[in-house]
Amino acid sequence: MMSTDPTDPWTNDDDDDVPMRPDGNVRIAWRDLPAGRHFIEQTALVYLRLSDDGTHWIVDTTSVDGYPLDSAYDDLSAQRCECPCGQEAACEAARAAADRLPLPTGRELAALIIDAL
Ligand SMILES: [Zn+2]
Repeated sequence: MMSTDPTDPWTNDDDDDVPMRPDGNVRIAWRDLPAGRHFIEQTALVYLRLSDDGTHWIVDTTSVDGYPLDSAYDDLSAQRCECPCGQEAACEAARAAADRLPLPTGRELAALIIDAL
């Protein structure tokens, strides 16, 4: 069931009055993308392992070792395939610039998730 909660980033109500996420970014980039901006994506892996007592999953030490998380993409590169801008050169430049940014560490990702909620 789709939510109509205006604080829910996946709400199905286009007329809600909360266009921005708590972290200051547009709520749904592919729909609310400001002019001149691009929708660049990356996906990070968080490795899990079974808890010592075998009752639940925990974050594996490799994901909280202080190093950037691993990309989940085969080529490890940022992606722009869903950007609706139609500006090939500018979009590729934005994607290439994003590729020079390290992915967050596990601790940084935890903070980013909290900021996005
Ligand atoms: Zn673009």
